[in-house]
Amino acid sequence: MRGLMMDVPLTLASLLERARRYFPQVEVVSRRPDGTISRAKYGAICRRVHRLADALQQAGLARGDRVATLMWSHAAHLEAYFAIPLSGGIVHPLNPRLHPSEIAYIARHAGDRFLLVDDVLWPLYERFSNQVSLERVWVHSLGGAPVPAGIERYESLLSSGAEDFVFSPLDENDAAGMFFTSGTTGRPKGVVYSHRSQVLHSMALCMADTLAISHSDAVLLVAPMYHVNGWGFPYSCVMAGAKLVLPGAGCGPEDLLDLIEGEGVTIACAVPTVWFGALEALRKNPGGWKFRGPVRLLVGGAAPPASLIRELDRFGLRILHAWGMTETSPLATMGRLKVHMQPWNDERKYEVRSKQGFAAPLIDLRLMRPEGEVPWDGATPGELEVRGPWVASSYYNAPEAATRWTDDGWFRTGDVATIDPEGYVKLVDRTKDLIKSGGEWISSVDLENALMEHPAVREAAVIAVPHPKWQERPLAVVVLREGASADPEQFRVFLADRFAEWQIPDGFVFAKEIPRTSVGKFLKSALREQYRDWSPPAPDMRKKR
Ligand code: AMP
Repeated sequence: MRGLMMDVPLTLASLLERARRYFPQVEVVSRRPDGTISRAKYGAICRRVHRLADALQQAGLARGDRVATLMWSHAAHLEAYFAIPLSGGIVHPLNPRLHPSEIAYIARHAGDRFLLVDDVLWPLYERFSNQVSLERVWVHSLGGAPVPAGIERYESLLSSGAEDFVFSPLDENDAAGMFFTSGTTGRPKGVVYSHRSQVLHSMALCMADTLAISHSDAVLLVAPMYHVNGWGFPYSCVMAGAKLVLPGAGCGPEDLLDLIEGEGVTIACAVPTVWFGALEALRKNPGGWKFRGPVRLLVGGAAPPASLIRELDRFGLRILHAWGMTETSPLATMGRLKVHMQPWNDERKYEVRSKQGFAAPLIDLRLMRPEGEVPWDGATPGELEVRGPWVASSYYNAPEAATRWTDDGWFRTGDVATIDPEGYVKLVDRTKDLIKSGGEWISSVDLENALMEHPAVREAAVIAVPHPKWQERPLAVVVLREGASADPEQFRVFLADRFAEWQIPDGFVFAKEIPRTSVGKFLKSALREQYRDWSPPAPDMRKKR
């Protein structure tokens, strides 16, 4: 017998309508790049979403069209987050921190048709506009930055739509958003979320044993909306009716603490690097900020050390350590203490909290080795595999990456972990040849390939070296051609054509040869060991994120 329940599609429309009906007065606070604040309410935002969806359809948007955004986090970006998928399109946030040629590659690969861009990001857009073929571009006024005459405006687009526009019925498995990951071979890959996966993921973030987002919360989205740590939250907050605080660009640690205090923030999310900065500010000025109560910090993307968790606890900032990936929407595990662990001594509790945690409901995990499944004994490492209703089943147009999925339907994460008998995952290594600096990926393979095109270079290996603030930074080990000479500055200039400044290695050290494995691959583990204590010669760290 089949169940006798309604088959109502899970779409983003129901999340939006809930906020409009029950939480119209709840605020979305946006901080502009110049530090000024603007406020909008869910009621007004929802009405503007209807207008924008209508306007996009009138502009010719067809089912499945990709609409890119090149925007910081603010209320208009939130409108786009809903209006694009609710008009049948696919929202595709572009990351303005990437090199213009990489943004262009991603936009082309996604097949973006339209673009919404902040005026302050117009100069960036101009750097890649001739490498993409977008049909229409609308500019959103954020900072009053000059934009050439005749460019279409976001507000005029909106004014062409009707507030009582009725969204067309959608299938819950229709695509809603396209988000890109950094691939191990360098090329970013598109992950396509559906309405259904976004709705289920939003519910998962609101559950009591994950982040427990409710209408009584004020959520500070430190991670930007174009970033994996930031893109799940807007939907959860709207669904729950939680106040949303969007810090935009150029927000330093003190500004974040001001926002937490001033806006009564109860939840904030960011990579560990951000909280290292906040901790430093709190240490310098311990009585400087008064928070409404304990603040839950969702920290993922990289592992926060136990010392950071412990220190922030003292200031009422309680880290909840989570693990996830672009391919997992991202929430997959959450490091909450179980009830029987509460009486344990602090040391044991911090040890547990610095693990990546156990799976969220509906997410399955297993550890694999070539010879089979690894026991959950907290000691034997294996590659972490995952499956669940908000885990990708393939990449967009990347058949060469199909091997990331097993024949029985699990996703191979590339993370090497142990799992203890309580189910807590602990990441111990990764098979991906990538460096994670301040929560952002840098492809060592891309850097190596680029460096080896330099006429003075015979071979080059790029490895991650530990860094106190960014956790990892790239270091290039270079073998010069016979008789050639070069200095690090030349390499920096050479790479600047293709890489964003923060992706360029902090150092270039010269070696006679690169150690290799028996099959001739670079033996990176030996290099990492050799240069573990290497530190950069007084780098400029301001632009690493
Ligand atoms: P991304 O798709 O950019 O979110 O990258 C996902 C990857 O980031 C994971 O496969 C891990 O390698 C790493 N990662 C995410 N969360 C954590 C965490 N809590 N601790 C350590 N590494 C993490």
